[in-house]
Amino acid sequence: MAYDPNNIFARIVRGELPCHRVYEDADTLVFMDLMPQSPGHTLVIPKIAGENLLDTPPDSIAAAMCVTQRVARAVKKAFDAKGIVITQFNGAAAGQTVFHLHFHVIPVYTLGGLGLHARSMADAAVLAEQAEKVRQALTAE
Ligand code: AMP
Repeated sequence: MAYDPNNIFARIVRGELPCHRVYEDADTLVFMDLMPQSPGHTLVIPKIAGENLLDTPPDSIAAAMCVTQRVARAVKKAFDAKGIVITQFNGAAAGQTVFHLHFHVIPVYTLGGLGLHARSMADAAVLAEQAEKVRQALTAE
């Protein structure tokens, strides 16, 4: 499948759609997942066009992974999580629903306590508060 430049994350990168932004640099953007699997579920995406891990330039993946490590530390601290799950899906058959590469940073509070993938929309005010908590934890690193 060819990369769709109008997929939802490409539009967020271009500023055409809003997000609860946590962090941004030249290569990478970080924002809260709208349908979190647990409180604090954050997404890290390369800005460059690429559907998934298989077709995105390695340099962009490397930059996103470095940010993913920082975000994972910040999310763990900000939400006092017991653990962090990192997920990333390649292709619809693997569960991918947005076809622009992204890494899920999902805090875990209790064993087996994660919600279903992309099911229930979180409250916007709660997401805004959570984004601020992750931003503060990143700044304090
Ligand atoms: P995946 O199934 O790995 O492609 O995950 C896509 C993720 O994007 C899901 O966890 C959705 O909840 C999330 N999502 C979809 N639309 C948005 C959006 N506009 N802003 C933030 N997260 C979104």
